[in-house]
Amino acid sequence: MIFDLEMIQSFYREMPGRISNARKVLRRPLTLSEKILYSHLFNRKSEGTYNRGTDYVEFAPDRVAMQDATAQMALLQFMMAGKDHSSVPASVHCDHLIMAKEGASADMKTAVYTNKEVYDFLSSVCNKYDIGFWKPGAGIIHQIILENYAFPGGMMIGTDSHTPNAGGLGMVAIGVGGADAVDVMTGMGWELKLPKIIGIKLTGKLSGWSSPKDIILKVAGLLTVSGGTGCVVEYFGDGAESISCTGKATICNMGAEIGATCSIFGYDNAMSRYLNATGRKDIADLAGANREHLKSDSEVLSDPAKYYDKFIEINLSELEPYINGPFTPDLATPISRMKEVAEKNNWPDKVEVGLIGSCTNSSYEDISRSASVAKNAVDLRLTARSEFKITPGSEQIRYIAERDGYFKLFEAIGGEVFANACGPCIGQWERKGADKNPVNTVIHSFNRNFAKRADGNPNTFAFVASPEIVTAIAISGKLTFNPITDSLVNSDGKEVKLSEPSGTELPPNGFGSIDNGYQKPDNEGKKGPIAISVESDRLQILEPFQEWDGKDFKALPLLIKAKGKCTTDHISMAGFWLKYRGHLENISNNYMIGAVNFFNEKTNSILNQITGQYEPVPAVAMAYKASGIGSVVIGDENFGEGSSREHAAMEPRYLNVKAVIVKSFARIHETNLKKQGVLTLTFSDKADYSKILENDKIDIIDLKLLAPGKQVTVVLNHPDGKKETIKANHSYNAAQIEWFKAGSALNLIRKANKKSA
Ligand code: SF4
Repeated sequence: MIFDLEMIQSFYREMPGRISNARKVLRRPLTLSEKILYSHLFNRKSEGTYNRGTDYVEFAPDRVAMQDATAQMALLQFMMAGKDHSSVPASVHCDHLIMAKEGASADMKTAVYTNKEVYDFLSSVCNKYDIGFWKPGAGIIHQIILENYAFPGGMMIGTDSHTPNAGGLGMVAIGVGGADAVDVMTGMGWELKLPKIIGIKLTGKLSGWSSPKDIILKVAGLLTVSGGTGCVVEYFGDGAESISCTGKATICNMGAEIGATCSIFGYDNAMSRYLNATGRKDIADLAGANREHLKSDSEVLSDPAKYYDKFIEINLSELEPYINGPFTPDLATPISRMKEVAEKNNWPDKVEVGLIGSCTNSSYEDISRSASVAKNAVDLRLTARSEFKITPGSEQIRYIAERDGYFKLFEAIGGEVFANACGPCIGQWERKGADKNPVNTVIHSFNRNFAKRADGNPNTFAFVASPEIVTAIAISGKLTFNPITDSLVNSDGKEVKLSEPSGTELPPNGFGSIDNGYQKPDNEGKKGPIAISVESDRLQILEPFQEWDGKDFKALPLLIKAKGKCTTDHISMAGFWLKYRGHLENISNNYMIGAVNFFNEKTNSILNQITGQYEPVPAVAMAYKASGIGSVVIGDENFGEGSSREHAAMEPRYLNVKAVIVKSFARIHETNLKKQGVLTLTFSDKADYSKILENDKIDIIDLKLLAPGKQVTVVLNHPDGKKETIKANHSYNAAQIEWFKAGSALNLIRKANKKSA
């Protein structure tokens, strides 16, 4: 048994009492997410009310998951903490480092060889600290979690921004940085600003070409990439109950694209069916017995506008398929309007590649619905006019999709199956010709479509749609093809029309028994050392960051003033750089290379105030560091949106960036920066962004007086000798201020563990 039945049994025993206590303290009915959050308070009992959207609360999540790219740094940090095992069940998943190029079998061989050092490191750390290890090829973190570990009412964190996928099984599952994982694995409370709650009532029923993906694509259009920031999105209603468990997971997964803390559905029969089908009848029975606690109170459901911070209603019977993009997942276009919108915006109509799968959409239902489209195409004597690629989410899914004949159907229309891994979804796609940066269109069923994300080409227009729509569009070869209304010409020259997709929620022949790629922690491994070669360019033992010296920051040169969208992909690019995720010094060479310099509108070209030359961002930062001076980064709105990668926060700390001042932060990135000891500030007047000049030297003063809710003074020393004083806000609470003073949150943990040893 892979999941932790005892831990889950004990949780369900205590949950009703904790909820009842919270209800007494709050003196009102509770939403589902409140029930789960209040059941996971670190101090176990609700002793006071917390305000949604303002109060920081410490939680005790049930488990931690890490993917291989982020696990390296998380575990390197955990190793510094002085513990001998993880305090909660944890798992590591080898999914991000596998390059998609020639197909599953060849790509797996290459990955195992090229990433051997990293896989060996992760495997040995997992053995030493009692952490479950999922080998390369086992599948993508979120799919594995859904298939094996998620349970209704539970709470987990994962070092990947799409951790909320487990909300499809009724779990509060939150994407975090590695430093947060270290907090939980070391037995500390994990702190989060108590989220606001958005309620989305789903009525009606999906039909025809519409699918769960279209719900979240529509929601992304309604709320935008930042509309869910600081919020849990709670779905409910008859429509919600009509969606499969894996369909719910797709919706929760892409809640990350609206910046939501997480998304969640209440426990229902679809979840029960999924738990039973995936060998977890015990959990289905326990959840069934606690059904009333695993949904919002009836008063909330009957008057949602009163209890949610925002309330939206969507009628699934009226929902048509959406295509979102290019370059941002919230640019939502209903398929019936795509022709008009694409023409108006001059989006290239010819689709070069259609890709289905990923952690977002590779359930049995997704694969079977796409395969029904492929079968229909074969019957109609059609093949795919675009290239067509499939990335299964797990070995289990790959096995049953192959067993049930779906891959044969994909191959019959020209499809190619990649390894069970992230691949093209995270830039691990060695796509022929992409380096020449041709203007082109791709469409996929993944979740993100920022510039360069899939293939590194800034001119790839990437669109997001459901797997069945992607399959239909790949068959047509045209972005503006609408399978609901349009016909195609087959190999006999006849006009034909694709039928509506059909699929199966769960495999009729079961999930089967396979080698799923899991490695149980091995006691022998506890004794062995963790070997990291000093010559390694992929792994490097961490040195603690220095404590704050108690002095104000004076005359810090501006490093870069980033213009517009600056996601974690812009701050610390993925793709090629994934291989350095365990080597802070080497990966710091990608810091901000994707960000646009406000002053010359170029990427990776900023003024070095020492030489007066324009140079790459990391080179300038290193030059300042070598001269013993820190620097300041300025950013625009929603700075650091996107992923939870803490490298985006560790790199500036390593490069001696003392402060990041922005119009607004994305939540995870702001917390990550705080944890690493970088001062995070926001302009109290957003117009002050325009006062920052390229040659400025910046003072940040009165830091000794740093206190919750108290503004910070920033002095801009302009090159003409003039000074301007502006005010900045911060969101530090008292405990977080201690992180800043100690040099990092980890420095504090290490000190505490030393004392208790
Ligand atoms: S979103 Fe893409 S990169 Fe992230 S876990 Fe899912 S498949 Fe992997």
